[in-house]
Amino acid sequence: RFITLEGGEGAGKSTQLHALAAALRTRGLDVVETREPGGSEGAEAIRALLLTGGADRWSARAEALLFAAARTDHIEKTIRPALARGAWVLSDRFLDSSRAYQGQGALSDADILALHRIGSEGFLPDRTLFLTLPDGEAEARARERDGDAADRIGGRDQNFHRAVASAFARFATEEPARFRAIDASGEAGAVTARLLDALADLLP
Ligand code: C5P
Repeated sequence: RFITLEGGEGAGKSTQLHALAAALRTRGLDVVETREPGGSEGAEAIRALLLTGGADRWSARAEALLFAAARTDHIEKTIRPALARGAWVLSDRFLDSSRAYQGQGALSDADILALHRIGSEGFLPDRTLFLTLPDGEAEARARERDGDAADRIGGRDQNFHRAVASAFARFATEEPARFRAIDASGEAGAVTARLLDALADLLP
């Protein structure tokens, strides 16, 4: 199975991904933890290009193409081979992050989905867990982690991040079979339990 975790900065995706992977391993599953941008050698090299140099380094279109290229490599080199041997793959971000982030720029949601069709045959997760936090709490958490550089690409304001959050919420409403919105507030163990619940129908 291929599972993705989505949400804005500071929602706790990375922490929860590790905890969820551990919980699935205790159930005897082979679990691969990965992330976007990145997750393969080539895609990690693209990640370094994307996350350094500031918000103005790339035009919005070039940025979207780089994310799509990284995703193609990630799928071909890491995700498909792992699924083929029967592993579960958990990815910290995936296509829906591009729809939410790059979809705020020069490209429409339809454009980003078209790039994904060209690059990756429209390959989709079996389930997408969308971690939600009340406005302000996510920002506070991200600041605690990264200081003023809470947005790793940089130069993007609160309005941008609010638009990202509402884009994720819209995708979740539009595709209820794939998405589960998960309350990411409260104690970490309780959040992990909610994530596991949201996978119950997929577990062997
Ligand atoms: O929170 P995370 O560690 O995943 O942060 C990666 C950075 O890349 C964040 O600043 C996030 O906003 C950005 N990003 C993006 N578009 C994507 C994926 C990540 O702008 N498709």
